[in-house]
Amino acid sequence: MTDLVDLRSDTLTTPTPAMRRAMAEAEVGDDVFGEDPTVRALEERVAGLLGHEAALFTPTGSMANVLAVGTVVGPGEELLCEASAHVARAELGAHGAVTGLTMRTWYHPRGGVDLEAVRRMFAPDLGPYFVRTRAISVENTHNFAGGRVVPLPELEALRAFATAQGVAVHLDGARLWNAHVATGVPLERYGAVADVAAVCLSKGLGAPVGSLVVGPADAMARARVQRKRLGGGMRQVGVLAAAGLHALDHHLERLAEDHEHARTLASACGVDPAEVDTNIVLLERDDAPAFVGAAAAEGVRVTQVGPRTVRLVTHLGVGSAEVARAAEVLARLSS
Ligand SMILES: *Cc1c(COP(=O)(O)O)cnc(C)c1O
Repeated sequence: MTDLVDLRSDTLTTPTPAMRRAMAEAEVGDDVFGEDPTVRALEERVAGLLGHEAALFTPTGSMANVLAVGTVVGPGEELLCEASAHVARAELGAHGAVTGLTMRTWYHPRGGVDLEAVRRMFAPDLGPYFVRTRAISVENTHNFAGGRVVPLPELEALRAFATAQGVAVHLDGARLWNAHVATGVPLERYGAVADVAAVCLSKGLGAPVGSLVVGPADAMARARVQRKRLGGGMRQVGVLAAAGLHALDHHLERLAEDHEHARTLASACGVDPAEVDTNIVLLERDDAPAFVGAAAAEGVRVTQVGPRTVRLVTHLGVGSAEVARAAEVLARLSS
């Protein structure tokens, strides 16, 4: 039996021995009392990296997005986002169910910003007759568009439009780290296009658990209350924050390796590597279910994410030797 190469998701990483040591040695306190020094250190660090005033640690990226959006959109108000955004497609309706907001979407083939569509959809406050747009959400990198980097000028143009209209920008930056490493754009410049943002530590960075919201201090104070309300107030959670700090120290720059691996796999599957911005490769195949099954039979796990779409994701748990083996298998199945 050959070793499995698991390319289903970058959430599949397990903590490295060094990360486990950092977790074991973390100084902790009760974070609901605001007394966990490691959580505080992580929150300060991530707020600083994105150039925001404050941050809030959350168990998941979904909760981070719900809290972030909830600071800028209220019940009966509207969020605009791209049609395949994680907030619209993969959070099981939390924004509607929990916050009570509504969404309308624009479509962009690369998960980017269609500013003309946003302008057309945008709903100003016309009194108590119409749903009013309160925020616009962007996702970078864009998961379901295949880890695509949304270009900074697109984000800056959206931000300028939103600011002129007096509405907020929310950034779902679950994989903002990948965008930063792939483009060299400083995290702060990405942070500057958003009023509130969410980032994940449990994807490519390789922490077992953890995400953060960043934004203005008063908004983060409100988000802290809502986090407790939702059951997300955690106690000696510095053991998890320590994993995040360790990941930022040791696993950020290495994302470049994942991107290189993704391009290698793309080439093997007959996809132009220039189409691969970061660590996700999408293959369009009429035989998607059979392809997934055949790869699994040879120890390479990939997933089907659409009727004809197969997804491969590279990450910390997949080294060069495994990528080479997967490339050999996938190339054979693709030919
Ligand atoms: C993974 C992900 C999230 C958060 O997901 P959780 O599983 O709740 O941590 C949010 N947005 C995007 C784009 C993601 O890929």
